[in-house]
Amino acid sequence: MSATVLDGKRVADALCGDLRARAATCVARGNPPTLAVVLVGDDPASRVYVRNKGRRAAEVGIVTRDHHLPAATTTAELVGLVQQLSDDPAVHGILVQLPLPAGIDSQAILLAIDPAKDVDGFHPDNLGRLMIGRPRFVPCTPAGCMRLLAAADVAIRGRRALVIGRSTIVGKPMAQLLLAADATVICAHSRTMALADEIAAADIVVAAVGRAEFVRGAWIKPGAAVIDVGINRRADGSLCGDVEFAAAAERAAVITPVPGGVGPMTIACLLANVVTAAEQA
Ligand code: NDP
Repeated sequence: MSATVLDGKRVADALCGDLRARAATCVARGNPPTLAVVLVGDDPASRVYVRNKGRRAAEVGIVTRDHHLPAATTTAELVGLVQQLSDDPAVHGILVQLPLPAGIDSQAILLAIDPAKDVDGFHPDNLGRLMIGRPRFVPCTPAGCMRLLAAADVAIRGRRALVIGRSTIVGKPMAQLLLAADATVICAHSRTMALADEIAAADIVVAAVGRAEFVRGAWIKPGAAVIDVGINRRADGSLCGDVEFAAAAERAAVITPVPGGVGPMTIACLLANVVTAAEQA
């Protein structure tokens, strides 16, 4: 393997160390950073995510308040809870774990969150701010990818960056962040033609597709930086990313592993948004 493997856990630990000190300052001022976590229904993966976020928050010194509601909760009931949390001065951040059960209007819930407490960065106000170059809360996964690129000293200005995926939570904000950092950005998706050629031309590849080992190692430009956002399960139950890791690592200069790459950074960036929200409250 020739690539440097970017240890997301190490970068996340360093960020959390800084956050611990900032959170302690908030506590000393009588304003402990507080995150309200709203989980609706019994999706097992969501339960695991929420538990991991809660554990990591406690390590940093962030107070979490859990609101676990039944799957039969209505949109109106959930909007009511989110408005109540938005109005509560002791709550600095609100996280509504996605996906919500099918019967709930996710957009209505998102719009009910006070943008100043929208630590996921999904509210149109925060996404719009990102678009105009005046970001407040940036979606955590793309923010984590940018921190990883910075930690590896990857040059971005003027380089050709390819984001594969155009979701509102990963692909689109990722493309915006790279554009703001002066990359020449292409955002690919399921209708993109000749994707292998696009990948072969890219100095930076961010894969956010959700298909196991979809990006073949042989497509990677020698010396490229490869950030693998995907979390997929193989038939044998093991985890893998969207990139064929071993083969890509033969060609890339830097690459993130799955697990242990982008995942820990996503949680750390969420906690960073909560501490920032508490500091600004
Ligand atoms: P979505 O399913 O919302 O988006 C997937 C994107 O991939 C879509 O834009 C889709 O295109 C595109 N796509 C699908 N097939 C192809 C193809 N054949 N060629 C090119 N593009 C394609 O997923 P998310 O953005 O929410 O997540 C992506 C992955 O990242 C998932 O594996 C998810 O689990 C993971 N993830 C990891 C996180 C972490 O912390 N590490 C956090 C969030 C997500 P189109 O728009 O045309 O349909």
